[in-house]
Amino acid sequence: MFYSRLAQAMDRGDLCFYYQGKFGTADARLAGLEALLRWRDPLHGMIFPQDIIGHAEQSAAIIELGKWGIDSACRQLARWRHEGLPLVPVAVNISVWQLSGGDLYDTVQHCLSRYALSPTLLEIELTESGEIVDMAQACDTLQRLRVLGVRVALDDYGTGYAGLMHLKMLPLDTLKMDRCFIDGVDGNGRDALIVASSVALACALGLEVVAEGVETAAQLAGAHRLGCHQTQGYYLHRPAPAAAIAPLLGSARTPAA
Ligand code: C2E
Ligand code: MG
Ligand code: MG
Ligand code: MG
Repeated sequence: MFYSRLAQAMDRGDLCFYYQGKFGTADARLAGLEALLRWRDPLHGMIFPQDIIGHAEQSAAIIELGKWGIDSACRQLARWRHEGLPLVPVAVNISVWQLSGGDLYDTVQHCLSRYALSPTLLEIELTESGEIVDMAQACDTLQRLRVLGVRVALDDYGTGYAGLMHLKMLPLDTLKMDRCFIDGVDGNGRDALIVASSVALACALGLEVVAEGVETAAQLAGAHRLGCHQTQGYYLHRPAPAAAIAPLLGSARTPAA
C-alpha cells in the first residue's frame, strides 16, 4: 500500500529534495549541501522524512528511494552546473538497509557518469537507523565509494545503533555530531564535554566533524570553540527547494584573490 503510493509519487514527480547548507565554522563559507527528502502529496500536503523513511525501510521501497535520491542529487548538480553556478558537494542520506542491498556502488557510479560529475561532488550520509547486518559487505561498499572519491559521513553520531563500534569498523571521512549534543555547546555542561571529546576522538581518527542543528549564535560560537569543522542548522540556513539554492551557490563563488 505504502510502497505503491511511494512508487506513484516517484513517477509523478511528487518527491523532491530540499537542500540545506553546511558552512565552515571558522569562515562561515558554504562548504556543502545536504539533500533532504520532501514529498508534496496533492492530498496530504508536505510529508516529511520521519513519516516516509521508516515505512520505506520495511520493504524494497527503501532501495528504490535510494536510487531515486542519488539520481536526483546528481541531476540537480548537473542543472546547477548548466546554469553556470559554482558547485559544492551534495550529501545524500542512505539508510543501513541500502548498504545491504548491494548495488549502492553501481548506482553511484552509474549516476556520476550519467551526469558527468566528479565523485568528489557526492557525499553519502549513513544513518544508523538499524543494525548493519553484513558488516564486511558494508565496509567493502563504503571503501570502494571512498576510493572512487565519494566522501562518507556517519550521521547523527551519538544517538545511533552502534556508535563507537561503527567508528571502529566503518571507513569514514566525517562524523556528524547529533543535534541533541549541540543543544548545550554554548555552555560548559555535559553536551560541551561530549562534543569536545568526540571532536578529539574524530580528529585522532582523521575525521572531520560537522555540528548538526545549530540554531543560535551562541551555539555557533560554541561549536567553533570546541573545534567542529563545519556547522549546519537553522541559524545559518534552513532547508530550501533547489531553486532557492542558486543565490547561495552564486554567493559561494571564490572571491578573486
Ligand atoms: P538528518 O540527516 O540528521 O538531517 C537533519 C534533519 O534536521 C533534517 O530534518 C533537517 O531539516 C533538520 N534540521 C536541520 N537544521 C536544524 C536545526 O537547526 N534545528 C532543528 N530542529 N532541525 C534541523 P528532515 O529533513 O526532517 O530529515 C529527518 C531525517 O530523515 C534526516 O536526518 C535523515 O536521517 C532522514 N532523511 C532525510 N532525507 C532522506 C533520504 O533521502 N533518504 C533517507 N534514507 N533518509 C533521509
Ligand atoms: Mg543527514
Ligand atoms: Mg543528522
Ligand atoms: Mg537526524
